[in-house]
Amino acid sequence: MENVIKYVKAINGILFGGYVRDKMADISQFHDVDCRINKEQLTQLINILLVDNIVIENIVGENYKRMEVISYTVTPKANTNQSFKFDVLCCTETKWFQYPCDFDVNMLAESNDAMYIRPHFLSSICTLPDKISHILSRCKSKKFALVALPRDNFTDISVLLFRSKNLVQRGWTMDDFYFSNASWIFSKWSILREEPRSIRLRHNDVSIEAIKSQTTCSLCLEPFSNDDIVFNTCCNHNFHWECHTENSTGICHWFYLKKCFSCPVCKQEAVKHVYIYNNLPRIAV
Ligand SMILES: [Zn+2]
Ligand SMILES: [Zn+2]
Repeated sequence: MENVIKYVKAINGILFGGYVRDKMADISQFHDVDCRINKEQLTQLINILLVDNIVIENIVGENYKRMEVISYTVTPKANTNQSFKFDVLCCTETKWFQYPCDFDVNMLAESNDAMYIRPHFLSSICTLPDKISHILSRCKSKKFALVALPRDNFTDISVLLFRSKNLVQRGWTMDDFYFSNASWIFSKWSILREEPRSIRLRHNDVSIEAIKSQTTCSLCLEPFSNDDIVFNTCCNHNFHWECHTENSTGICHWFYLKKCFSCPVCKQEAVKHVYIYNNLPRIAV
């Protein structure tokens, strides 16, 4: 069941029909989940839940934005003490676009058992069923990518960097699916060294060779270990996010020291900050 919830949270995009409010933890501490599903997918979800659970549906009424609210109580047949609730808010396409993402997707990305993945607004994956299966397959293989490059704001970018790094530490793989060379990447060194093409999807041979050949961090000069979290910049240089030595504290601290995102090696922009879409939420993993 946890997987089902995880996938529900992963479904997002320009679908309309409702979004799910997650009340799993505590009724006073719900997250709103940026999860827009259509009626068919909702039926599919309920059918999946019905295999191992008793599902009770209540039409609660309308919320303050005049969206119909349906509340579901899901009780596992195996353990009737562990029920949880989620709400689905139903709305028209017009209304959905009127109220884009007015809830906290950032909280969702912080949650251990939740993931927020959305395809690029202009990606070629535009037909709805494909979009959903694309997101689900990425979710299942624990992959994420930036979908919006943050605005030129030091704090916003820093938050995004830390969130991405945390996801990689939790076993997710970051790639450059939507922004190619304009995207910076966090990766375990073992993956970056052995399978750079699985992360840098459209790099040419020269760039891939450049990644593999930079086996030491340019700040602390130590060789990378397999489990090190390596930061691969937009200019394609590799650094420890945090170095292990006393003489260097890593590129994270370099950025803080400089209060900008210049690369210590080539002085180019190591983190791009072109703000592209106004209506997209800040966190984009
Ligand atoms: Zn280092
Ligand atoms: Zn550089």
